[in-house]
Amino acid sequence: MAHCVVSKAEAILDKEFPVLDKGFVRLVDYLGGDERVVQAARVSYGAGTRNYREDAGLIDYLLRHHHTSPFEQVVLTFHVKLPIFVARQWIRHRTARVNELSGRYSVMKDDFYLPEAGDVALQSDDNKQGRREEALEAGEAEKVRSAFEQGQRESYKNYLGLVDRGIARELARINLPLSLYTEWYWQIDLHNLFHFLKLRLDSHAQKEIRLYARVIFDIARNVAPRCCESFERHILEAVSFSQDEFAELKRRLAARSAKPDNSNTTDDNADPALSGKPPLSGKTPLSGKSLERFEVKLNTGKQL
Ligand SMILES: Cc1cc2nc3c(=O)[nH]c(=O)nc-3n(C[C@H](O)[C@H](O)[C@H](O)COP(=O)(O)OP(=O)(O)OC[C@H]3O[C@@H](n4cnc5c(N)ncnc54)[C@H](O)[C@@H]3O)c2cc1C
Repeated sequence: MAHCVVSKAEAILDKEFPVLDKGFVRLVDYLGGDERVVQAARVSYGAGTRNYREDAGLIDYLLRHHHTSPFEQVVLTFHVKLPIFVARQWIRHRTARVNELSGRYSVMKDDFYLPEAGDVALQSDDNKQGRREEALEAGEAEKVRSAFEQGQRESYKNYLGLVDRGIARELARINLPLSLYTEWYWQIDLHNLFHFLKLRLDSHAQKEIRLYARVIFDIARNVAPRCCESFERHILEAVSFSQDEFAELKRRLAARSAKPDNSNTTDDNADPALSGKPPLSGKTPLSGKSLERFEVKLNTGKQL
């Protein structure tokens, strides 16, 4: 079948969605949508299901069974403006095609990321890669913001000074900070976009890249809504269990159904499978950290 036109995607083409203080994401172009995934799958499986509900079932099936190639038939191109420290994390996703603004060719603009006061926090105690949940007290946060701003102003002034002296742009730029904004065109297929989103929407990812991932996901929903819904249900918000964890889960459920007063129980906390408390009898295959992790998984729904 010829070119897929998705009306919701057409409606947002070229529209700038703001991210952070000066960044944005725009959908430049797209190829395919839900329909293309279904067509591509039918080429491999032969004609079969036809109506929307069955198409939705087929997409779910493909995703659940990791039949990923039909999702590669959908391609999205974004124009993104982002701070260099976010770009450094983003560029690790090797399956995209990228064209970035050249600081060798152009004079860099005076655009720096300045975090909101509410985003300025101390180093986390339990996560070596992250910051604490609670922000610094407002006055302290403002001092940090001023220090950032002053550093950015000075480094940009020095940069312009060097450019004005005729120093090559490729050298003049080397002292500019990671907070400087860059821009790129980023093209990726839907399968690899889902992989990017799984990693970069996760709470372990840095807040700034998470904000971009959220906007990208919202845009992708306009291109392939059924695929995105399926991804959300079966991958993004899903939790997987190891062999031992699954055995423990089954053991708890068995203990629950074996309880004589089970049918009269109204208090969920009395149910070991729901309360996360170890059941009264039987031997758990989990212990120590692995048991702790399992309890947290059950209680929070987070993949650990
Ligand atoms: C929260 C978080 C913290 C991180 N911290 C660090 C860190 O401290 N230091 C650091 O260096 N990195 C870090 N990373 C980056 C991480 O290690 C990956 O490089 C990044 O997430 C890209 O993942 P990927 O390689 O699976 O994705 P992609 O590059 O998009 O690749 C997708 C998949 O394609 C396959 N693939 C792609 N290219 C190849 C290839 N050449 N050979 C074989 N298979 C390939 C792999 O199966 C891969 O999973 C972090 C990432 C996250 C999300």
